[in-house]
Amino acid sequence: MHYKFSLDPTPRKFICPNCNKKTFVKFIDNESKNYLNAIDGRCDRESKCGYFKKPSNNYAITNSNSNALNVLHPTYHNKDIVLQFYDTMQQSNFIIYLLSVFDLKSVQKAIIRYHLGITNYWKGATVFWQIDDKNKIRGGKIMQYNCNTGNRVKQPFNHVSWIHKQLKLNNFVLQQCLFGLHLINKISKSDTICIIESEKSAIIMSIFIPDFLWLATGSKSGFKESMLQPLKGYKVIAYPDKSEHQNWQDKSQLLNKRGFKIQCSSLLENIDIEDGSDLIDLLIS
Ligand SMILES: [Zn+2]
Repeated sequence: MHYKFSLDPTPRKFICPNCNKKTFVKFIDNESKNYLNAIDGRCDRESKCGYFKKPSNNYAITNSNSNALNVLHPTYHNKDIVLQFYDTMQQSNFIIYLLSVFDLKSVQKAIIRYHLGITNYWKGATVFWQIDDKNKIRGGKIMQYNCNTGNRVKQPFNHVSWIHKQLKLNNFVLQQCLFGLHLINKISKSDTICIIESEKSAIIMSIFIPDFLWLATGSKSGFKESMLQPLKGYKVIAYPDKSEHQNWQDKSQLLNKRGFKIQCSSLLENIDIEDGSDLIDLLIS
């Protein structure tokens, strides 16, 4: 809590209106940074003088800078942006990979459901749109894949970016949501939602096990209350990457105390598989 006027925090002292010694700390106006007046303040000679006069018109103010950060609203892309990055004439490395594993019909269904996009930001890169439960487009995450292995391209640098960066929208306020969240409106409360870290894995799992709704956090730290909030009331199974189990398990337990119904799977913990692996590494090898 901040106040309009507070005692000057600097060592500067003035003449005390009571004892006339130079031991007087004035009140300062926190907004203009000026001293208030010559009589409102406190004498440092607490026992010998003890003068202390507070401004009569003081009041609480909210720090304008930190407040501005708290009230920033997310920026949304226009709905038609999805179509701009839907060009089927362009090659998508990720889709080429999907077609080497699954049949055309299954891949097409996944592309349509998740609105998978293609961008020339890097040749053949994929756009994973984050569309929330109100069908607002929060952002488009761009990632590059190897079309033969389906693995992310991380050399010579990690190929991750955003559509708002590609479009140079400098004031864009990115507030992420779960990848696939828009699909929550197509299921009922008795359906099961599965959460995995990687967007690619959510797509692939949706082809393998279409009876569940597959969503992705996009990062380890994306498994948090603000992101999971729309899933409250649904049966959720979380599939953390190998070696992330403890972290997601602890968070699940905390969230379940707040009304969530999250079961954290330990499937990968009990299998001899490399750290960082996920369900896909188990199913496709
Ligand atoms: Zn004094």
